[in-house]
Amino acid sequence: MTLCHVCHAWQAHVVCEDCIQTFAQPVERCRRCALPTALCAAEQSQGHTHPLCTLPGLAIDQCIAAVDYAYPWSQCIARLKFGDDVGLAATLAHMMRHSPWAEPALEQADRVMPLPLSAQRLQERGFNQTLELSRHLGAKRIDTHSLVRLETETHQVGANREERWTQAQHGFYIAPEALPDLRGQRVVLVDDVMTTGATLQAAAATLRRAGVAHITALVLARTLPPHRAIADNHGHVPHRACTS
Ligand SMILES: [Zn+2]
Ligand SMILES: [Zn+2]
Repeated sequence: MTLCHVCHAWQAHVVCEDCIQTFAQPVERCRRCALPTALCAAEQSQGHTHPLCTLPGLAIDQCIAAVDYAYPWSQCIARLKFGDDVGLAATLAHMMRHSPWAEPALEQADRVMPLPLSAQRLQERGFNQTLELSRHLGAKRIDTHSLVRLETETHQVGANREERWTQAQHGFYIAPEALPDLRGQRVVLVDDVMTTGATLQAAAATLRRAGVAHITALVLARTLPPHRAIADNHGHVPHRACTS
């Protein structure tokens, strides 16, 4: 027995079945950006474009998120991220695996790649939470060596949208020895939180240039646009998550 992280009752799992039922109900999501489709629809009805969904030549073929980035998952992710509770990874990965479309993507994947941290960041933190999640998703197909993150990872705070995309585009490379084996492969890229999607797109674009045939981004949590409550009520708030 253990204490459920959410309801703090004694339970069999670190997040109990009741809490998963309550807080992780699957919602229909856009297959390109993983936002709930209701939010995309509100956006489209206003005549705005939805950059992640309409950009030509996107490197990610499909994008899957288990939950919205909100209570209680934001707290669980923080605990996982700072290594407070590695045991959470199994439960959170279980939620990812059981999201709509995730199971077939994982079954068909030749490789499951956790989004890498740069060596410097990994050393600072001592821990890559996406690797912990991937261990429960990819088993033997997990690939931590082919995709490499550059050290010059600029902190995105304060950068505008164009700057973030530009910074992210140059953030990854393929390990030379891995190049011959990637052509034609199907890859599932794993991350904990997707906010703008810029980093995942950059990683995917790097894989695409190496000849990878199909890329699924599988994330635990998708950040919602700000003022979601207002958007839900009125349907006409600019969709900032897709434009920032
Ligand atoms: Zn609970
Ligand atoms: Zn979308």
